[in-house]
Amino acid sequence: MLVYNFLLNKILLIIMTDVQIKTPNLDDIFEKWKNSASRKNKKKLEKEYGTKGAVFSLNVISAAESVKDSLKEAAIYFTIRKTVAPSKDKDENLVLAPRLGKETFYLFKGNVIKDNWKGKESVPMFDSISAVSCKNCRGKGYTEEKCGTCKGSGKIQENWTILVGEEQDKQKKSFSYPCGTCYGTGKSQTRCKECGGHQNMYKYEILPVPFKSVVIGVPVLHSSAQTKYEKEIEKDLHDLIENVEGIRFSDFKTLENKAEASLGYWNKNIKKTIGNAKSDYQKYDKDKDTKINSQPHLFPMIQLFCETKRGSKFEIYSIGNAQKFIIYSSF
Ligand SMILES: [Zn+2]
Ligand SMILES: [Zn+2]
Repeated sequence: MLVYNFLLNKILLIIMTDVQIKTPNLDDIFEKWKNSASRKNKKKLEKEYGTKGAVFSLNVISAAESVKDSLKEAAIYFTIRKTVAPSKDKDENLVLAPRLGKETFYLFKGNVIKDNWKGKESVPMFDSISAVSCKNCRGKGYTEEKCGTCKGSGKIQENWTILVGEEQDKQKKSFSYPCGTCYGTGKSQTRCKECGGHQNMYKYEILPVPFKSVVIGVPVLHSSAQTKYEKEIEKDLHDLIENVEGIRFSDFKTLENKAEASLGYWNKNIKKTIGNAKSDYQKYDKDKDTKINSQPHLFPMIQLFCETKRGSKFEIYSIGNAQKFIIYSSF
């Protein structure tokens, strides 16, 4: 935050908003791109612009031959302060009792400073462990069936022939005794396959570490060029705003009123972009978790549509005025 404020205070801005901003000329943008590409992407540059058998020189790459078209666009930039509270994401696991001990559980008694935390952002919480009665065995740990030996009677019944009296008359008699398989209960118990006999399954939650809420500076960028670099530019402006020059307005209404005169050009996209940025700005202004942290800035953006000697198409974007601008490229 301190670093950020320091940078913001160091921005060189044109405060006289009635002055028209000077946009960088195409040759300067192209030159800057060429130098940056020769540092970062020399091989590709040689491939796209080189001539077989000739020594490669940057001089063979000219804006006049490469730039096929250009558009003048604009970007609105401001920063907000945002309170970031711990996330409320929640996940849970249901496991067999012996699996619990294999998990690493955490316990927190208060908030954690995020910078001091080593580990995952969401962790299994010890105090969230709760038993869930097994549905399959209704919490008994076993399932019951009729005893196979006694067919559920609990008894073994035998029919004997006995000999009665002097005559030794044969008579049928039945005799029963408790079944030894089920101890006379008539039921046999099988360990529950679901809970493994532990009666319960165990549930625990994987919750975010309770980080202390922090206030952070967040850059917001709206650009009419609708590049795929918007997020990148947003972040870069946050870090590099010293190297980019635009116009700072005291409030959004002034920006809206003076944008066209300040830029010296205008199109439907710019108008729409300013409208979107305005509703965004107002939304942040009303939200209790955010606060507008800087005045709105207006930056000219130039979009160059280029083609290499070999016919590959690419684009270059510049953001900033003629004195201080940064570039992006799809090369
Ligand atoms: Zn039995
Ligand atoms: Zn069970």
